Amino acid sequence: MTLSFDPATLHLPKGHFIDGRYVEGADVLEIRRPSDGKPLSAIPVADAALVDEAINISARVQRQSDWATCMPRDRARILRRFADLIDQEAGYLAQLEAVCSTRPITQARQSDVVNCADHIRFFAEFADKEGGQVVPTADAQMGMILHEPYGVIGAIAPWNVPLSMAAWKLGPALAAGNGIVIKPSEMTPFSTLYLAELAVRAGIPAGLVNVVLGDGPTTGTAITTHPLVGKVSFTGSTRAGAQIMQDIARTGIKPMTLELGGKSPQVVFADADIDLAAACIARSITGNAGQVCVAGSRLIAEKSVAEELAAKIAKHMAAMRPGKTWDEATTYSPIISETQISRIEAIVDAAKTAGAEVVTGGCRMESDGYFYAPTILAGVDETNPAVTEEIFGPVLSIQTFETEEQATALATHPTYGLASGLFTRDLSRAIRMSRKLEAGTVWVNRYGRSRDMILPTGGYKSSGLGKDLGREAYMGAMRTKSVLIDL
Ligand code: NAD
Repeated sequence: MTLSFDPATLHLPKGHFIDGRYVEGADVLEIRRPSDGKPLSAIPVADAALVDEAINISARVQRQSDWATCMPRDRARILRRFADLIDQEAGYLAQLEAVCSTRPITQARQSDVVNCADHIRFFAEFADKEGGQVVPTADAQMGMILHEPYGVIGAIAPWNVPLSMAAWKLGPALAAGNGIVIKPSEMTPFSTLYLAELAVRAGIPAGLVNVVLGDGPTTGTAITTHPLVGKVSFTGSTRAGAQIMQDIARTGIKPMTLELGGKSPQVVFADADIDLAAACIARSITGNAGQVCVAGSRLIAEKSVAEELAAKIAKHMAAMRPGKTWDEATTYSPIISETQISRIEAIVDAAKTAGAEVVTGGCRMESDGYFYAPTILAGVDETNPAVTEEIFGPVLSIQTFETEEQATALATHPTYGLASGLFTRDLSRAIRMSRKLEAGTVWVNRYGRSRDMILPTGGYKSSGLGKDLGREAYMGAMRTKSVLIDL
């Protein structure tokens, strides 16, 4: 075991981050280390009054500083400096991520921090390049479409990849000239707090980016229902997304982006490169121990290759190296909490009761932390909980098909439509199926996002509303105004 850092002595940012400084409060919510279940720290909960203060400060700074009105190129330059600082602080940011989240230190440093900085740079590029339009009108008139920032964006993030999730929110909001009040998950707040500190160091006006800590019902609801929040950007469960829609409808109309849960299929035809498919599928369900919104949790395989494929995936799974998130050699993540691992156990048990056969895994791993074995469940039909429920763990179900029509029907989930994978060497079938699959993203002969942030991400059906990433996310951080002038 090569320890990257000592989790017991790591300095943790303390308190909320409001108006450019840390604001401490009574410790209310305990944070545990998923790798060994030990208590790490505790955080305060921002009540409605503190959230109100944070939002008012962000709104005032957005109005009174020149963030939204300066030369767009200057805004882009400051954001690039922010990204450079993220790169420079990669070591510490990765430690803050690894100490409380499920991200192994090597992945946090080599992937999450790099992605975080790149996301900020990607959105910075829009600031001085993407503008409004002059549209065709009568010659005696001029019609213009303007895009304007909302003022303050209220952002709420989940715990599974905190740095990337924060960047998805900060990048478009700031590039478009908004202020932002962000609530990270109560289980993984530290890297987001430090990002806000770096934002100020980069030259983003203090108070424009405020981080409030707390849970969903108290702090989250105070953000989503606040009258000065012009738009809500939420990533998390479908259950919480539905609650947020109700809360917003109850307190006033405002736009929202909801990036929610998934139960994504991976369809493998017999003509596919089976080794490639097995590697991609194993990676997609073991990455972050399946705690990924787009985890490819439903394998839908042509009957003639299903057994071979399952055996190859199981072999990849066996090579995973579980360990402490602060160990350089760890490649397999713990589950975030006791609550979450118990939920995985309950769903797998229910799946077995409903007839699922365990091909591999199907239980907790020997550990003082929250580790669940990479699992394959066969013999499931479309009513089995392993197929219906978003497990958010390393559990892959297998269903088989004999025709393309059956494959499409099985791939179509009644509730979710976040992503889909498709493995085939038949180009016509790939295009035909890509059109038929009901999902916001289709990956063919690969599974998972590339670093092409230009591709928007977001779900169909109960997997969400609106897009993160891509030009869509930047445009989504602004509202549209039509101007018609009689000349
Ligand atoms: P969660 O919904 O429990 O919590 C997400 C965040 O929302 C947390 O910060 C939480 O405190 C807050 N929250 C909870 N209830 C709220 C409410 N009523 N009002 C306001 N805020 C509230 O989700 P989680 O367990 O942290 O994350 C896992 C879920 O996130 C999974 O369902 C996963 O699929 C989803 N997710 C989706 C994407 C995507 O891009 N579609 C990306 C990552 C995670």
